[in-house]
Amino acid sequence: MAATADLDWPLADKERVRRLLALPGVRPHSLERLLAARVAVVGMGGLGCAAALYLAGQGVGHLTLIDPDRVAAHNLGRQVLYAPEDVGRLKVEAAGSALRRLRPELSLSLWPHALGPENADFLLAGHDLVLDGLDQGVPRDLLNRWAVAHGVPVVFAGAIGYEAQVLVVAGGQPCLFCLFGSVADAAQDCAVEGVLGPVVGMAGMVQAQEALKLLLGVGRPLIGRLWTWDAYAGRTRILAVPPRPDCPVCASGPVAVGQARMGGQHRG
Ligand SMILES: [Zn+2]
Repeated sequence: MAATADLDWPLADKERVRRLLALPGVRPHSLERLLAARVAVVGMGGLGCAAALYLAGQGVGHLTLIDPDRVAAHNLGRQVLYAPEDVGRLKVEAAGSALRRLRPELSLSLWPHALGPENADFLLAGHDLVLDGLDQGVPRDLLNRWAVAHGVPVVFAGAIGYEAQVLVVAGGQPCLFCLFGSVADAAQDCAVEGVLGPVVGMAGMVQAQEALKLLLGVGRPLIGRLWTWDAYAGRTRILAVPPRPDCPVCASGPVAVGQARMGGQHRG
């Protein structure tokens, strides 16, 4: 395709985005934005692995991976960036190695830290977009508040049992608190309730899909609309999320992150 020939990119990246340029609405400047984009993935479990795989593959310029945990054998069924020889390695390092094999040109920052109030600015500032790969509520509450306060879009996701959900919070539209209230104490535990690997992967891929739509400026992102997938019934639904008039996070303008409920760890 001639349109990519003028762009000052490595040849490998030009070839990588060739098929994107054939999509309706995608222009050369959309691709320049994609290759310059900085995306943070908070949590490198099943969601983060699936999402990062596609973001790297499709040409996102820089990925910041954040997770304090090490790869465990029980992760391997659904955390698709890790191989048996990675057990015991830091997830961010193992994921970084896998993504570099996929795309040597990818720029990466690897932080083996849990997201907390003391490091949210350091870890998340300077990104165009954040993906939520967390499975615990306290840091997810913090991420919601930080993103609303700083005007950075977040693609939230969750998967448990046979069900997955994705919601984009951006542009002053309803936030995660509008939908669920505080999720600090509400997180479910995959270790107790179980989860089907492809359901997590599907949610991660929908996250990547929404991130790419936002970065390319195409389509209708799931802003203020909750995508749900019930694998048991084989049913997809999209539900409008109404704004909560008394939402303490987004109703009265940006909220200082210091007012959020803080602390906690996240697992992959
Ligand atoms: Zn809200």
